[in-house]
Amino acid sequence: MIYLLVFIFGLIIGSFLNVCIYRTPRNESIVCPGSRCTSCKKPIPWYDNIPLASYLMLRGRCRVCHEKISFRYFAVELISAVSFLILYMNFGLNYIFWIYSLLTFSLIVVTFIDLEFQIIPDRISLVGIFVGIILSVSFPGLQSAFTWKKAFLNSIIGALAGGGLIYLTGVLGQLAFKKESMGGGDVKLMAMLGAFLGWKMAVLIFFLAPFFGAPIGIYMKFVKKEDIIPYGPYISLASFVAMVWGHKILGLLLP
Ligand SMILES: [Zn+2]
Repeated sequence: MIYLLVFIFGLIIGSFLNVCIYRTPRNESIVCPGSRCTSCKKPIPWYDNIPLASYLMLRGRCRVCHEKISFRYFAVELISAVSFLILYMNFGLNYIFWIYSLLTFSLIVVTFIDLEFQIIPDRISLVGIFVGIILSVSFPGLQSAFTWKKAFLNSIIGALAGGGLIYLTGVLGQLAFKKESMGGGDVKLMAMLGAFLGWKMAVLIFFLAPFFGAPIGIYMKFVKKEDIIPYGPYISLASFVAMVWGHKILGLLLP
């Protein structure tokens, strides 16, 4: 029963994340106006705005203009609800759960904006670095520390390590391939993750991301002939794995 409630709450948040994904890169307000069809601009009534269900009932088309609604709306709602539930099942309702949820929801927004526009908005990554540091100081346990000073230090080192690793990769990539391989957005995103999760997790994410990125990247490059492959989604996926199973993985690697 509680699982169902958590799942539904996740769906509602996912529905809001869809608004953020559409409006943030377009520099529109995420609060008003209310939901509109992106094609005919008609307001969407509440009964056509129910997560998952409305998309299925309308068969992915706007009721008014019958234009296709992006499958992204359905996917984001489902991913948000499932990841919210996984975090709840692993952490219960403590502060770690809420902070990891906040981070996960930010990463979902980052992932889908990066997939569509190949950018990671500073409004998320730069703001996220500061939020990560502030939350670490307020909840030292987030950094596995007991004092706020230690947590503050861990958070700063995490941001530098995360951002630094991707920055160095980019420099090496540039030397090797004579073109830009890592964007500044990825550097800031990894700095944000380091600020939230500390340097150990940042290093883990750095090494995990290619496991997700490489197979899809090779497919995109050689089958779909895409030249620009966003890296944010793989960093995000690796981060979620690190949040939920990172301590176990590190325990196995560094006994
Ligand atoms: Zn429409």
